[in-house]
Amino acid sequence: MDTIGNKGANTKLETVSKNISAKTQVNNNTNLNIKKEDISNKQHICSCCGNIYSKQQGNFMPTNFEAYKGNGNFITTCKKCTDQLFEQLTSFYMGNEEKAIDHICMMYGLYFNESPLAASKKISENRSRLSTYSSKIQIKPWIGKTYLDTITERIQEEKEDVIETYEDVKDSKKTKLKSVKFFGTGFSDEDYAFLQEQYDDWVTRHECKTKAQEEVFKRICFKQLELLKANRAKESTKDLDRTLQDLLDTANLKPKQTNMDALAEDRTFGQLIRLWENEKPIPEPDDEFKDVDGIGKYISVFFLGHLAKMVGIKNKFARMYEAEMNKYTVQKPEYEEDSEALFDAIFGGHLDNHNKYGDEDG
Ligand SMILES: [Zn+2]
Repeated sequence: MDTIGNKGANTKLETVSKNISAKTQVNNNTNLNIKKEDISNKQHICSCCGNIYSKQQGNFMPTNFEAYKGNGNFITTCKKCTDQLFEQLTSFYMGNEEKAIDHICMMYGLYFNESPLAASKKISENRSRLSTYSSKIQIKPWIGKTYLDTITERIQEEKEDVIETYEDVKDSKKTKLKSVKFFGTGFSDEDYAFLQEQYDDWVTRHECKTKAQEEVFKRICFKQLELLKANRAKESTKDLDRTLQDLLDTANLKPKQTNMDALAEDRTFGQLIRLWENEKPIPEPDDEFKDVDGIGKYISVFFLGHLAKMVGIKNKFARMYEAEMNKYTVQKPEYEEDSEALFDAIFGGHLDNHNKYGDEDG
């Protein structure tokens, strides 16, 4: 009995957390309209401190939210109280005034947006930032808006990140048109990157020749993405796991059937290089190891220098080549002054003169 009871509770809890973490969707045509009574002769009690005010203007913040329409479009907490609330919420949010104002806006259905918030710097000691903000949202272009508009705008901003058409790809820096065409529109940049990366990984490791195989891998990638999102949202992944396992069965490549050694052998050298370059590219070397064999100089001297020398270009590479070659070149010994004197001493100077005259005669 207990287990059944717990199971029921778990399912309820699952449903509740699923709904809480679900993507917010709204119907903009919803009209909040609740019947009002005349309050013109009433006194106005602050629902927080209990103080009684004879008039609302100046004592209460105005709001456009339906729940306060019957109260003359004023909230029921007096300004003295909301100012204190703002201060205390700011300290609750660790000094973040924006978060405190957002909280108050949500409570009283006030419009919350960055622009009027940025325009409402604290002007004087007597006036809180909250009350400046409140007066900003009572003027154009923000007048008439409520927190529902804030929610709608937030959803719109999220949607803008999603690639809905091929045109959107132009604005996106990361996603390639190829990925969008392959996986279809409607995902965010981050999603496309994940899908493409996973798909590439699958097809590098496993055979993918037919369209059917391609389609199965594509669906596996979609399932992986769903699993990732479910895990992030801390949702149950039981069904997704099962579907993924079914797909893996269909593809006939269950993890247990593949062996790690075979994986590396299946790939070509080029595929491995791509894998290494993508996953573990060779890092920049430390200074002490940079060009340790002098390969840069080697190429400049023996390739560029040699080439320049060959085709007769005189540049620094050619000069480097010459200098380098000189180190290894054996020079023909030449007679210097002293050796000539020695030669003369042995063979006598007349030989030289004799040759000279001989040449002239011939
Ligand atoms: Zn009060």
